[in-house]
Order: sequence, then structure tokens, then C-alpha cells
Amino acid sequence: LTEVDCVFCAIVAGSSPASMLYGDEQVVAFLDIRPVNAGHLLVVPRVHAALLSELAPVIGGRLFQVGMALDQALRCSGVRCDDVNLYLADGAVAGQEVPHVHLHVVPRFRGDGFGLRLPAGYGRRPEREALEEIAGWIRRALGEVEDAR
Ligand code: AMP
Ligand code: ZN
Repeated sequence: LTEVDCVFCAIVAGSSPASMLYGDEQVVAFLDIRPVNAGHLLVVPRVHAALLSELAPVIGGRLFQVGMALDQALRCSGVRCDDVNLYLADGAVAGQEVPHVHLHVVPRFRGDGFGLRLPAGYGRRPEREALEEIAGWIRRALGEVEDAR
């Protein structure tokens, strides 16, 4: 359940410091030490899982529920917060640096300089036929994932 050398497991265990915001049986939330904006926080499952595919779906559901509550809390907390991004990097190539699942909850305000960088050529619309082909691949894969659960 706990992974040695995992910084978030150490925080969950109480052996590494964190500015705690919330904790229940399944998840904890604490402030990010390198915030994009003040109030940037992380929601983290207590159990160690590197990827979402290794996490029980109910815990993933709880992760999002708590993220939603903290989104609302940030808006009336006094930190600068007009709107909020929820962000999750599932794997290293997707930008995950800490290999223990975590949901970022990031307060946003106009002109804060944060954003997603879009690839060259973004904005072009593929033919419906191309969308449908890809939709077919994903529907088939989803069926297999659901069957395996
Ligand atoms: P990611 O790139 O999605 O894996 O994000 C990892 C996040 O964890 C970064 O925003 C880090 O600033 C944050 N982080 C790393 N170590 C700690 C720590 N000990 N306490 C709080 N946040 C941390
Ligand atoms: Zn861990």
C-alpha cells in the first residue's frame, strides 16, 4: 500500500511535511510546494498507485469529488481565484513527475500566465469519417476495459 521513496506516500504517512487541507479514509489534499498560483493544491489517494489504471475506480471517483469541493472552497477562500483548472497527468509522457496519482486543483485569474500549450496545426478539423474511425477504436477498447473490471 505504501511505496518506499514515494514522496506522496511519505506525506500520507505523516513522515514528510505538508500543508494539509483535507483527509478522509480514501484521499488527502495539501498545498503544492511549487504553486502555479497561490492556493494550488493536490488531491492524492492514500493508497499508492502510479497510474489511474492501477487505482480502484471508487477512489478515482472520490479524488474527483474532493477536487470539486476544493474548487468551490478556493473560490471563496480569499486566495486570488476567478476560476479553476483541474489537471491530472497520467504518466510521464503526459507530464507526470511524481509517480503517485494526484489531481491538481489550480486557482486561475485573468493574466496569470498559465495555460496549455497547443501543438502546431491545432484548430484543423478532421473529416467526420476520420473521427468515426478513431471513435470505433476507442469504443472497442472501452468495452474490453469494462469487461476486465
Ligand atoms: P506532476 O508534474 O503532475 O507530477 O506534479 C507534481 C507536483 O507535485 C508538482 O506541482 C510539485 O510541485 C508537487 N510536489 C512535489 N513534491 C511535493 C511535496 N513534497 N509537497 C507538495 N507538493 C509537491
Ligand atoms: Zn506513493
